[in-house]
Amino acid sequence: MFALVDCNNFYASCERVFRPALEGRPVVVLSNNDGCVISRSNEAKALGIPMAAPWFKIEERLRGCGVAVCSSNYALYGDLSRRVMQVLAGCAPALETYSIDECFLDFTGLPGDLTARGLDIARTVRQWTGIPVSVGIAPTKTLAKLANRLAKKGRSPAGPALEWARLPNPQETLAGIAVEDVWGIAKRWGARLRALGIAQAQALAAADPRLLRREFGVVVERICRELQGVSCLPLELVPPPRKQILVSRSFGERIRSFAELRAAVSVFAARGGRKLRTQRLCAQAISVFLHTSPFDVVGPRYANGAMRPLDPPTRDSGRLIRAAVAGLEGIFRAGLAYQRAGVLLLDLVPADARQGVLFSAVPGDGARADRLMDCLDVLNRVPGRPAVRYAGELLGERWRMRQRRKSPACTTRWSELPVVRADAACLSVAAAGRSGVCLPRISL
Ligand SMILES: [Mg+2]
Repeated sequence: MFALVDCNNFYASCERVFRPALEGRPVVVLSNNDGCVISRSNEAKALGIPMAAPWFKIEERLRGCGVAVCSSNYALYGDLSRRVMQVLAGCAPALETYSIDECFLDFTGLPGDLTARGLDIARTVRQWTGIPVSVGIAPTKTLAKLANRLAKKGRSPAGPALEWARLPNPQETLAGIAVEDVWGIAKRWGARLRALGIAQAQALAAADPRLLRREFGVVVERICRELQGVSCLPLELVPPPRKQILVSRSFGERIRSFAELRAAVSVFAARGGRKLRTQRLCAQAISVFLHTSPFDVVGPRYANGAMRPLDPPTRDSGRLIRAAVAGLEGIFRAGLAYQRAGVLLLDLVPADARQGVLFSAVPGDGARADRLMDCLDVLNRVPGRPAVRYAGELLGERWRMRQRRKSPACTTRWSELPVVRADAACLSVAAAGRSGVCLPRISL
C-alpha cells in the first residue's frame, strides 16, 4: 500500500508561509530571470493564468487583479521541502522522495484507518511547516498518483486525503481520466493510444497487457497492470545514480567580456563539484558551452562547446574550474553578446570506485584535495550564496539572474530572518480575561 504526499502549488505555498497577507490572494511564481509562470495558487488558476505563460505577455491583462508576483526563491523552497520530507520521514517505515514536493510513503501493513492516517499527515505537515499537502492512498503508485489528483481537486469528502479503495465507483472514475493524465504516459504516446481506441485510463486498464508491451514496451504494460491494482513499481529507496550533472543559466543581461563569462563558468563548475560530492561521484570529463540568443536580431549568432577529459576522475572544484576555463578560452569569441553558458559533468563514477594513479602528474587530487573539499563543503553547508569561494568566481556578477521580486531567505540566512512582533495592547486584554478568546495580533 502506498501513499503519495504532494504539496499543493508548492512554490506559491512556500511564498505564503512567511507572508500570511498572501493568503486568499492570487499568487504566481516566475522562473529564472522572471520569465514564465511556474507555480500558481488556486486563486491564480481561477483567474485563468496558464502554466508556463511568459509573464510579460499576461502582465497587462492582469493589472488590477491583485496578483502577487514572486521571483523564484530556491533557497526557501529547497529548505521548506527538506522540512516537509523530514516530517514525512516520521510518518511511515519507508519513503521515496520523488521530487522537490512529492513523496511516496510505504503504507503496507499499517494498522487502522488509512484515510484517517492520511488526514493526520496532512494536518501535521501543515501545522509544522505551513505547507498544505494532499495525500492519495492506493495499492499501486500509479493509482496513488490518481487518488492524489482527485484529493487535490476536492473529490474527497474527508478533505485532503483520498483512499482509492473508498471511491464509490473506481471504474467510473477511471473512465473520467484522459489517458495522457495517467502518470508515466508520455505526451507522444497519447495519440497512438487513442488510435488504438484507448482514450481514458479505464480503457488502458482494460487493454491487453501483451498488446501494450508489443506496441509500446514494458513501461506501458506496467502502467496498465498498475491501473488494475497490481503493483509493479516498488519504492525506490535509493535514487539511481546520476549519469551527468548540468549547471547552466541564462544571464540576467547579455555578457560580452571574457572575465564575466569566466566568472559565470567558474561558479557553474564549483556548483557542479559540490553536487558531485553530495552524491559521492567523480567526473571523468567536463564540457563547457555558451551561446548568443537565438532571438537577437542584431549581431551574429554563435554557439559552441568544448570537452575536456578529467584523468584521473575528479570531484575537486579547483580542477573542474581550471578545466572549464581552459575549455572556455578555446571557444570564446570577442565582440559577441552571450545569453547563456553552462557546464556539463560527464561519465560520472562512484567516488570510492575511482581508479587511483600511481605517479600522478595532477597536483591536488587524492586525500589532500578530498580534505580540502570536505572543509569547503562544511563552510558552505548553508544553502544560498556560499561563504567561501574561488577567486575566479568573483570576477563578475552581471551574469546573475534578474530576480526583482524575490522574497527573503527566511529560513536559511540569519540576516533575512523574519521578526515577529506581538501587539502588547491585545496581549494585556487577553491577560485581563475581558474577552473569551483573544489571540495576540502577530505581524511579520
Ligand atoms: Mg505539487
